[in-house]
Amino acid sequence: MSVRRALFLDRDGVINHRIIGGYITTPSEFHLDEGILPTLRYAKDAGYLLVVITNQQGVGKGLMTSEDLDAVHAHMNQVLTSHIGFGVDRVYSCMSLASMNDPRRKPSPGMLLEAIDDLGIDPSESWFVGDSITDAQAGRAAAVRTILIGDYPKDAAEVVVPDVYGVLGALSGEPA
Ligand SMILES: [Mg+2]
Repeated sequence: MSVRRALFLDRDGVINHRIIGGYITTPSEFHLDEGILPTLRYAKDAGYLLVVITNQQGVGKGLMTSEDLDAVHAHMNQVLTSHIGFGVDRVYSCMSLASMNDPRRKPSPGMLLEAIDDLGIDPSESWFVGDSITDAQAGRAAAVRTILIGDYPKDAAEVVVPDVYGVLGALSGEPA
């Protein structure tokens, strides 16, 4: 049996545009960043499971319910499917407040470790793409290779790329 590998993806700032200082509480607030689509196509073809790993403390704050979050994720997969014919395979969300120190919440690796166990994934063959330092920290703690999007020091992750368009080159091992 071949090794199972995953492309783990942070959600806000990777798959969709972030709402700075806010939360996406309804499907209408979800705006796809089409720059991620070539990466998703490549990863799917290369046999990576597509797994979202997202902190959503807006639920813990009472700004939305877990049903609202489910609706956003169902919408996300509809939007992705309309563009590329498929959505992500799994979504792991941590709805706890940052102050609760939930081991699932990034920068802790809990959600990644849970997914690795649930899905039988080899972390050393997998990647985690994020746009926050906490994504790279969680990825490293789970022994997953890390790609960080943004203006970060080179050593903040295995690969640092300036924007979402750089992710494909990092993943495929070729310059973008
Ligand atoms: Mg993010």
